[in-house]
Amino acid sequence: MNPLDEKEIRESFVNCSKGEARRLNLPRGLSELPWADLDFLGWRDPGAPDRGYLVTERNGELVGVTLRLAQETRRSFTKGTICSICVTAHTGTGVALFTAPRVGAAGRQGNTVGTYICADLACSLYMRGRKKTDLGMDFETLTTEERVVRAVVNLEGFLDKVFDGSLSTTTS
Ligand SMILES: [Zn+2]
Repeated sequence: MNPLDEKEIRESFVNCSKGEARRLNLPRGLSELPWADLDFLGWRDPGAPDRGYLVTERNGELVGVTLRLAQETRRSFTKGTICSICVTAHTGTGVALFTAPRVGAAGRQGNTVGTYICADLACSLYMRGRKKTDLGMDFETLTTEERVVRAVVNLEGFLDKVFDGSLSTTTS
């Protein structure tokens, strides 16, 4: 993706208040991020461990989504988990259940969408082999390009749910 600056990132958020978007902590070293290898910008809030953010392009527009780490009780029963965006297999702590408030009135009423994502939101780097999981193995048979295409589709599906029912979705 193209490098983003602070203003672009803060203005992209669609599922939180303007004040929250103004205050949230951006990733460290913004200008030094490996932008060319990122399909979306994802990061955990350096000052609020239960929060994460995801910024990507959707229908030609920059869209930022706030995520919150869900409280989970069943984690101990699973040995490994898979990211629902990039389909990377991790050990138990490598994937986390995040919830995103829906856009608009539904979100303000507490309506959220949950999905499992790489806990560090670094899907792009796992797919390109720039980051290794705790499993240390890659079970994928797809090429990097095929994985990226699949991840983009998965991410769009997630964003569709976040936007579901809001007026900002295009009506056909
Ligand atoms: Zn992932």
